[in-house]
Amino acid sequence: MSQQSPLASTLDMTKKPARVFSGIQPTGELHLGNYLGAVRTWRAQVEEGKDETMFCIVDAHAITVPYEAAELRAKIDAFAIDLIACGIDPEKTTLFVQSDVREHTELAWYLASVTPYGDLGRMTQFKDKGEGKEFVSAALFTYPVLMSADILLYKATVVPVGEDQVQHLELARETARRFNHRFGELFPEPKPRLSNTPRIMGLDGDSKMSKSKGNTISLFEPKEEFWNKLRTAFTDPQRLRKSDPGRPEICNIYTMHKAVSPKETQDEVVANCTGAKWGCVECKKVLFENFDKELVPLRTKREALSMDHVRQALGDGASKARRIAVETMKEVRSAMGLGSLST
Ligand code: SF4
Repeated sequence: MSQQSPLASTLDMTKKPARVFSGIQPTGELHLGNYLGAVRTWRAQVEEGKDETMFCIVDAHAITVPYEAAELRAKIDAFAIDLIACGIDPEKTTLFVQSDVREHTELAWYLASVTPYGDLGRMTQFKDKGEGKEFVSAALFTYPVLMSADILLYKATVVPVGEDQVQHLELARETARRFNHRFGELFPEPKPRLSNTPRIMGLDGDSKMSKSKGNTISLFEPKEEFWNKLRTAFTDPQRLRKSDPGRPEICNIYTMHKAVSPKETQDEVVANCTGAKWGCVECKKVLFENFDKELVPLRTKREALSMDHVRQALGDGASKARRIAVETMKEVRSAMGLGSLST
């Protein structure tokens, strides 16, 4: 076994913590997919306190498709309340709204000048969201550049990503390389931190849980409605009767058990499903109880939060973020030969 040299251990001690950046679109209230797939992991990172974390409600991304202005404002508020209730503590992290820091859109324009048109045309999300639509905005085409700007503005070194965002992060890394090559070393290449949480499908069991697909359960849904939705969720299609042995490994309800139920319960689900001892409603009831245990403290916290407190927290978060953004933009403008003022 190799021994660490004294120099290496000194270097380790002086190593800077990672700066982790995550963005989330304000699509309304947080749903189970958001919580289990991303927000719970973020909370763990905030609580661990090892890295510097920044969480951004990316409202400028939400305007790339048709939307109602008043609704968007309400969604930003609802999202911020939900995130804080879930443990994204503004005292321990930087939580802010993207458009409160104007440098995001400024940097996006500058980065667009080093981003090839062809790279944007290959983005699968552009094809998915734009296909068959009567109106496709230019912003939908260029929004991966804004995503690159979100990350590079803070010189983030780590970005937690799901499988569907790997392509966008690769573009951000490529953009950092292109910029540095052309204008001098300024941006670190952000590294992906792949999520190891199971992928939660929608209630249809068919596609990712998503507000636009109408297959979600909101995290803070009243209990009765929560249960009514969970009760109708799609399970193993081969299980028509209780006496049919089920296949938990292909069932979204089992995936949710793996996310919130203790190990003994997960084993019980496998045994009772494959042995045709539990019906699906029984299985969902156990899941519902475990969700309830997890969500009670979050609901209590949410009820105690006032909108004034949340707005204050977002204002403080934007000020913290802006301090970094302003410094980066001074460097960017200077490197690119832009502007006539020294600030
Ligand atoms: Fe899915 Fe549970 Fe039904 Fe098995 S018993 S198919 S795991 S809901």
